[in-house]
Amino acid sequence: MRKLIHRPRRLRRSPALRNLVRETQLHPHDFVLPLFVSEKIDRRREIASMPGVYQFSLGEIADEAQRAQDAGLQAIILFGIPREKDEQASGAYAEAGVVQKAVRAIKAKCSGLVTITDVCLCEYMSHGHCGVTRIDGDHFHVLNDETVDLLVRTALSHAAAGADVIAPSDMMDGRIGAIREALDENGFDQIAILSYAAKFASAFYSPFRDAAENAPQFGDRRTYQMDYANAEEALREVALDIEEGADIVLVKPALPYLDIVRRVRECFGKPTAVYHVSGEFAMLKAAAAKGLLDERAAVIEIMTALKRAGAQIILTYWAHELAQWTRP
Ligand SMILES: [Zn+2]
Repeated sequence: MRKLIHRPRRLRRSPALRNLVRETQLHPHDFVLPLFVSEKIDRRREIASMPGVYQFSLGEIADEAQRAQDAGLQAIILFGIPREKDEQASGAYAEAGVVQKAVRAIKAKCSGLVTITDVCLCEYMSHGHCGVTRIDGDHFHVLNDETVDLLVRTALSHAAAGADVIAPSDMMDGRIGAIREALDENGFDQIAILSYAAKFASAFYSPFRDAAENAPQFGDRRTYQMDYANAEEALREVALDIEEGADIVLVKPALPYLDIVRRVRECFGKPTAVYHVSGEFAMLKAAAAKGLLDERAAVIEIMTALKRAGAQIILTYWAHELAQWTRP
């Protein structure tokens, strides 16, 4: 027999011992369910690239929010698909826009459910970019300050409809400060901002473009979303958003960016969120459908890794299942 003082395996001998020393526990309150609401449909429509994920009609969305609350979830995040798009994204800030109507319906039915609204222009712009564009010969520009003005209008209209948390996902400079100021000036000082503070230009967003119908008609988003090679820059972006008034900061995508999540949590100690995105979802679903891995085990392992890395809030398309799997 070897004379070992330390035998770490002693604490792995039984499920009860392992539970006793487990550092990271998942809970239904960790998860936020993304919901897509479309003005173009009368009943739910499955998103081709995201099995089991649907767009809902305005008539269905409040019931769907209720279903999330009944499952034990505390929060949803809403994305809208308008009937019509234009060059000014006017549907984004219309009083009777799709998100504004959906928020009113949801808050009337489940007032206690934290209703977060995505604030961006891409779903509402005919060209699919997140901002106002100007074409200069072969080049196109996404105009920062003109875009921020429209984001502010959008945020205000969401707050007026009853949203609890405003979540700008566009990556324009200075938008958090502008939105915070406008909210405060209009009597919405209690409405929180969840900022997509470090959103990377990622290959993992493609299925979302089917879901939100926001694929850019030309060019890409690399002049506003971040270069995925940059971690220091991510910290600078997060610092700016916190200075400007962000209450929660989000890193997107999730699994390939665990180092960023960890550093953001350690550097700032702010409530930190992560978005496990459509491509990450689709990849696992495809592997599970082929029998290559156990979906539930893989999802729980990934979610635990996200939380272990520092994410307190996880936006995921598995929120319903996770609420069930992690019920205490
Ligand atoms: Zn966008």
